[in-house]
Amino acid sequence: MAVTIKTPEQIDILREAGRIHARILNELELLVQPGISARELDRIAEEKVRGAGAEPSFLGYRPDRHTPAYPATLCVSINEVVVHGIPTDDMIIQNGDIVSIDLGLKYQGMFTDSARTIIVGNVSRETSQLVYDTREALARGIAVARPGNTVGDIGYAVESFNNGRYGNVRELAGHGVGLAVHEDPYVPNYGKPGKGIELKPGMVLAIEPMFNLGTSDVIFHDDGYTVTTADNQASAHVEHTILITDGEPEILTES
Ligand code: MG
Ligand code: MG
Repeated sequence: MAVTIKTPEQIDILREAGRIHARILNELELLVQPGISARELDRIAEEKVRGAGAEPSFLGYRPDRHTPAYPATLCVSINEVVVHGIPTDDMIIQNGDIVSIDLGLKYQGMFTDSARTIIVGNVSRETSQLVYDTREALARGIAVARPGNTVGDIGYAVESFNNGRYGNVRELAGHGVGLAVHEDPYVPNYGKPGKGIELKPGMVLAIEPMFNLGTSDVIFHDDGYTVTTADNQASAHVEHTILITDGEPEILTES
C-alpha cells in the first residue's frame, strides 16, 4: 500500500483512537503481574477494546496468504521473544520477566499500533537498562520525525543511540499505519541521514525499535508469528503511532 497522507477528518479519528489505545495499554500494564497468563491478558484486552467501541485489528489479520490468521488481540512477547508472541494459557508471567504487550486497534475505520515492554518485579540491572534504552531509542526516533527529514533519519537516530550496545533487530521494522494495519513506508531501525522517503505532514507512522541484550540475529518460528533472539537472551520492544505535523511530531498513542 502506498504512502498515504491522512485528511484532517482521519487525523481527528486517529487522535481519538490513540487516546483509547493509550488508556487500554495503561490499564493492561497494571495487570502484568506474576501469576497472570498471557491468554488472560489477551481476553481482558479484547473486552476493553470492544467496550470502547473499537475492534482488535490483529485478530484475524493475515500478513500474507501463506500465514494463518492471527488468533489474538495482543501480541505478548516475554523475555527472549522479540515480537509476535501468541498469548496462551500456559504463558504465565513471572517475577523477573520483561513483557512486551503489543496492541493493534481499529476505530471508526482507522488503525493505531502501540507496544510497551513492562518490567515485572526484580529484573537484572542489565535487562532493565535494556528496556529503558529501548524506550529512549523510540523517543530519539520520534524526535526526528519532522517534515523535510526522511525515514533514514529515524533509523539513524535509533541506531546511533544504540551505538552497538545491544543487538538491533534488522529483519523487522516500523511502518506506515492509519488506513490499514501495515502501510508503506517501511521504517527500519537503522538508516542513513537524509536517505529514503521524505516525511510530510499528514503521514502516520508506527515506530518500533527492538533491542536485544545479545545478538541481533533472530529466529522466525514455524507458527508463522513468534520471533525469538537467536541466543535466547532478552529482547525489548516499544512502539508508538505518530503523526507528522508541520513541526513537532505528535504521539497519537500516548495519554
Ligand atoms: Mg505493534
Ligand atoms: Mg507495528
